[in-house]
Amino acid sequence: MSLPSHSVDLSVIIPIYNEEENIPALYERLRGVLDPMNVRYEFIFINDGSRDQSLTLIHTLASRDPRVRYIDFSRNFGHQIAVTAGLDLSLGEAACIIDADLQDPPELIPRLYDKLHEGYEVVYAKRRSRQGESAAKKLTAKLFYRILASITNISIPVDTGDFRVISRKVVDALKQMPEQNKFIRGQISWIGYRQTYLEYDRAERAGGETGYTYRKMINLALDGITGFSDAPLKAATISGFIVSGLAFLVMVYTLYARFVTHHYEPGWASLMVSILFLGGVQLIAVGVIGEYIARLSANVRQRPLYIISDTNIPVAQPAPALT
Ligand code: UDP
Ligand code: MG
Repeated sequence: MSLPSHSVDLSVIIPIYNEEENIPALYERLRGVLDPMNVRYEFIFINDGSRDQSLTLIHTLASRDPRVRYIDFSRNFGHQIAVTAGLDLSLGEAACIIDADLQDPPELIPRLYDKLHEGYEVVYAKRRSRQGESAAKKLTAKLFYRILASITNISIPVDTGDFRVISRKVVDALKQMPEQNKFIRGQISWIGYRQTYLEYDRAERAGGETGYTYRKMINLALDGITGFSDAPLKAATISGFIVSGLAFLVMVYTLYARFVTHHYEPGWASLMVSILFLGGVQLIAVGVIGEYIARLSANVRQRPLYIISDTNIPVAQPAPALT
């Protein structure tokens, strides 16, 4: 089945996880911004296994507005997968990825979109400040972006989420990247082309609660690091060498003390310290390797990234078949 391709200028990709409090306001604000823009647009709501009334609200919107498309997942697959599905099924010449909780101001979209037409393929929105988020979240986010920037070999912009406008070229390139552990902002940096940014002040969540638990955040951070850097593996190797070197010196000294000076103690403390230390280093190294192997095996399994239980997008097959 083929649709007149790209009869849409802008696809707005909105991942939804328990956002019943925000959907009506979000829709109104998006329309208020998009209608005057004079572009043909579509909304793609991806319901990522919400347990509240989000889906009902989306259905209602879809029944009133034919530009509202939705994808309903069979369960919660996570934010990055939800965005991926939206991009997979989008038709627009450009796509805008935006959070549903109004932390990303819809009012910035026209400026992002205009900038795209100055010859860029990616215009991302960089957070100048963040409001209403815990000090712990701000600190961990800041640290994460900086560690990531320092150990990856591509330049992933700091303090930038997925809020951005990208061109069809970039959407098509993303579709060619089959990894299971998505870190979309990293993938987009990897793709290249001309990229630029606008700065904005990140508002606090309009209603509801964050769907990003610490577990999900840690996973996202690990996906970002393992997907774009081998530095932790190298660090494991290097610390292995350093610790082995130290252990060798201690060994030489021990033999020297035992056979030459005959001056040695029972040495319980030093034994404990070195065993604990070596054990710790080994466990860390094994853990690091494990993180990579887990991701390797996820990719080897080749499962579909998501299962769609229902959608009103004609080209989409509910439950994509395995190839
Ligand atoms: N989200 C999602 N699946 C999840 C968690 C979140 O689709 O498992 C969506 C959520 O509805 C929102 C966006 O991803 O539109 C960002 O999530 P959230 O605001 O909870 O993250 P935070 O801003 O706290 O990092
Ligand atoms: Mg949020």
